[in-house]
Amino acid sequence: MTTYRSFGTRNRNTPQSEPIPGREDMVKNSAGGYVWEVDQWTKLERFLILGTEGGTYYIKEKELTKKNAENVIACVKADGLRTVALIREISESGRAVRNDPALFALAVAFSFGDEATKTTARWALPHVARIGTHLFHFAQYAEQFRGWGRALKRAVAEWYDLSQKDLAYQLVKYRQRDSWSHADLLRLTHPKAHPDLYSWVLRDFPKHAEYKIEEGKYRIIDGFMKAQKAATPGESAKIIREYRLPREAVLTEHLTDKDVWAALLEVDMGPEAMIRNLGNMAKVGLLTPFSDSVKIVTDKLANTEQMRRARVHPVKILAGLTVYGQGHGVRGDGKWQPVAQIKDALNDAFYASFGFIEPTGKNHMLALDVSASMSGPIAGMEYLACNEGAAVMAMVTARTEPNYMICAFDQRIRDLHVTANERLDAVMKKVKDINGGGTDTSIPPMFAQEQKLPIDVFVVYTDNETWAGQAHTSERLRNYRKASGRPAKLATVAMVSNGFTIADPKDPGMMDFVGFDLNTPAALAAFAQ
Ligand code: CA
Repeated sequence: MTTYRSFGTRNRNTPQSEPIPGREDMVKNSAGGYVWEVDQWTKLERFLILGTEGGTYYIKEKELTKKNAENVIACVKADGLRTVALIREISESGRAVRNDPALFALAVAFSFGDEATKTTARWALPHVARIGTHLFHFAQYAEQFRGWGRALKRAVAEWYDLSQKDLAYQLVKYRQRDSWSHADLLRLTHPKAHPDLYSWVLRDFPKHAEYKIEEGKYRIIDGFMKAQKAATPGESAKIIREYRLPREAVLTEHLTDKDVWAALLEVDMGPEAMIRNLGNMAKVGLLTPFSDSVKIVTDKLANTEQMRRARVHPVKILAGLTVYGQGHGVRGDGKWQPVAQIKDALNDAFYASFGFIEPTGKNHMLALDVSASMSGPIAGMEYLACNEGAAVMAMVTARTEPNYMICAFDQRIRDLHVTANERLDAVMKKVKDINGGGTDTSIPPMFAQEQKLPIDVFVVYTDNETWAGQAHTSERLRNYRKASGRPAKLATVAMVSNGFTIADPKDPGMMDFVGFDLNTPAALAAFAQ
């Protein structure tokens, strides 16, 4: 009986456990609800920006990576040049949380692309693998596929054609990773531009026993050789200051010393390394109230230009705020008192990293999915959950748009009691404290209809694993439009790379965005117009 009653093409509401009648394009998501699948290019974009590390609440990492890898291969085969261009653009602009998906996808392009694709991939390599560590990751991925073809060898050899000074720096700073070292890659690819540097690496790494390179020619190598022989932390600190050495050149056993960290912070530490090492610097007693080191840290964080040049992704700033702000090491090692100025500076740096966004003045309902599945981690960021990430992305829009409301939903909706001026760690805590249940992404438009709220744009931050609703989100949106007479739009901001979307591809007023994409707040504003 019930089955016959709920069925019919005129019926506007279909339970999410069933596809909308007549819509054969719907697919079942991991939670058993019917949604759509994004097209292969959106899938690729999500993968490049969100990655798959750690999997999702529903999908294990291995399976999620496999699905995404298959899609990258399909994209390379469909249009290799477009694929490589997207990889390069996303990597270079710093839109993604981590660079590994781009390196992985580029390795796929080398293995599955045609000649033209391989050539553009070769040109793209130094732009995507910008540091030694990236190159080692890339080598690791490349080996997982079809091994070392000619195009691949040539690309890596060309990577080593950097200017002398830059290459010397790379050789000292990023020496090995993932069981790959520069010596391995040099033996494999035989680059020609800087024979003295190559043979130094080949002969002396990792022993550094004999110094076979002309002294005075490469200052960083001179310093590195001295640092490797430093007898005391005090000596290390002196050499760091004299030769402007990075942390990687210093003996590990000296990295528990306060003055060594003070020297590193003064001379070379880039913003990202600085943010990542805030806990280490606090632990050794460097970041104390009113100290010079705190001023260096807050000045660097406030230097928007430098932060943007270093492509520090906002999620990494957030991870810094979380780890440093909790006042103890991740594995419980070491304790410190977080300095308020550093937390404030991280908070400001987070917003600044998105650049200026023109407000639209439209009425925004920023709706956060806080169901249980959103407590899963952000890929590659073990200290941050998807719901926390969703909350801070909503905050970026809330800080831009004068007319907003922030609410949270699972199978019911609630006010988060958050204002645009609250600090991010407080907002994240509010979201984290909600112990969410089932998922119904159709609630935001339904609630707006019930409450007669004049909404122009619904922004739903979700993993698209909705299942519990008595109607699909697209149906509720149409109902809202009809009841309110407003041509409201709905943006879905995907927080994981699972290929699903609640946005009806046939409804131009519904659109997919990628969570944690540096461009998302600006793209949302353009969509809201
Ligand atoms: Ca869920």
